[in-house]
Amino acid sequence: MNEDGTRTAAPELAAEDFRSIGHSLVDQLANFLAGLSARPVTSGETPAQIRNAIGSSRTLPETGTDAATLTSAAAELLAAHSLFNGHPRFFGYVTSSAAPIGALADLIAGVVNPNVGAWKLSPAASEIEAQTVRWIAEFIGYPAGGGGLLISGGNMANFVGFLAARAAGAGEGLRRHGVAGAGKPLRCYCSTETHTWIQKSADMSGLGTDAIRWIECDEQQRVRVDRLRAAVELDTERGERPFLVVGNAGTVSTGASDPLGEMAAFCREHRLWLHVDGAYGGLAAKVPGAAPELQGLAMADSVAVDPHKWLYAPLDAGCLLVRDTATLLNAFSYHPAYYNFETDALNYYDLGPENSRSFRALKIWLAFQQAGRAGYTEAIAEDIALARHAFELFRGHPELEAVTCNLSICTFRYVPRDLRPSVGSEETEAALNDLNKRLLTHIENSGYAFFSNAVLDGRYLLRLCIVNFRTSVRDIESLPEFIVEAGAVVAQENQVRKK
Ligand SMILES: *Cc1c(COP(=O)(O)O)cnc(C)c1O
Repeated sequence: MNEDGTRTAAPELAAEDFRSIGHSLVDQLANFLAGLSARPVTSGETPAQIRNAIGSSRTLPETGTDAATLTSAAAELLAAHSLFNGHPRFFGYVTSSAAPIGALADLIAGVVNPNVGAWKLSPAASEIEAQTVRWIAEFIGYPAGGGGLLISGGNMANFVGFLAARAAGAGEGLRRHGVAGAGKPLRCYCSTETHTWIQKSADMSGLGTDAIRWIECDEQQRVRVDRLRAAVELDTERGERPFLVVGNAGTVSTGASDPLGEMAAFCREHRLWLHVDGAYGGLAAKVPGAAPELQGLAMADSVAVDPHKWLYAPLDAGCLLVRDTATLLNAFSYHPAYYNFETDALNYYDLGPENSRSFRALKIWLAFQQAGRAGYTEAIAEDIALARHAFELFRGHPELEAVTCNLSICTFRYVPRDLRPSVGSEETEAALNDLNKRLLTHIENSGYAFFSNAVLDGRYLLRLCIVNFRTSVRDIESLPEFIVEAGAVVAQENQVRKK
């Protein structure tokens, strides 16, 4: 406290300091972006090296340090010791490049700092979130007139959809009495290719993972609706209560899409909630070249999509869309005495589990306007076309085996010439699994490209997923030779190890 009662508090930054520090930080980050493609995809360091670099053994500093030094050092530190999912040859998991306007949006959001829990605390930001949610629905062809909200990611968006379905399916008593209030044991249905959010949801919601009925897939990793029907009918006969069917719009492993239209018809007939996990593929629903099955998501009661995947928003941003906003209010709303938030607009704390909420919408809202529907459609279509191109190149190479290609995910493996004749035999399959597993790590450590893996029918596969507007045709065309050369090195090491 100053003598005259004014304050120069330690966390404050004077406007002129904010200006100069901000300007030099933006210069530094612009240089980082300009040089990104020349860096290795990952520094590939060990935890000990990283801890050493950040000074993990230091205890909490007692006194403060100049902000300019800190921000510049932090930018430097992260540029030197990170994995860059914004690199043109990052193809791992479903992790996208971030549109730079999103970083600028986050700066605005951080400075204005609206609390998007309540409308009164975030008048413009709440309305921008509402519009962003409507635009996402419009972009994927989900009916207008519904609602939804932004949340941290696909797992949480799916969880919110799960809880909305549970509240709708289990009746009045559930929210007070817990799952026992549902009377009968609740059951949900999804394919064996469904992402692990379903286990977390069944677990966290008190149903337990045994409430999940895992339904078999066909040979293209799509759920078998005949098996789904049989499972629902069997449980119903046994006096259990089916309440939810989950459809995949782009599975996490291979990008397969379930027959959503057929599933929707089945759910209507049995009065079951259809939730679509479109965390990855949902955003491609209206993009030319994407699987036509995706269009069926328009008939779902709820759909989860991930703007931090195929809308290239910086982490984090997931989104749950619902056909009827009342279903979220029925699942989440409480009205504590200490809130004075009555309004005829939306209070987002009423629609989901979060209370105070960050302004996630701005980065999506601005990017939608920067690129437009056409710009996004083209970027996503190009990602899909590049994955297809990779698949064809792998298929044409004598030492690569291309296995699946859906949306922008393609799976494949390295098969050296000497093992090709015996592919399928137990011994060769085991050797190939071991070889490709080692190859994945070898490629990671090379810093040239980054893949992840999939396991299909016991085969260990490399997996390339392009949600990356920086990847070029040249990046893709460089891959077969790079992979096969790396494969030969790993095969050689294997032989040396065996001796
Ligand atoms: C990525 C993904 C998730 C999980 O989303 P997060 O944003 O990582 O929480 C769920 N389902 C599918 C199909 C995904 O691809």
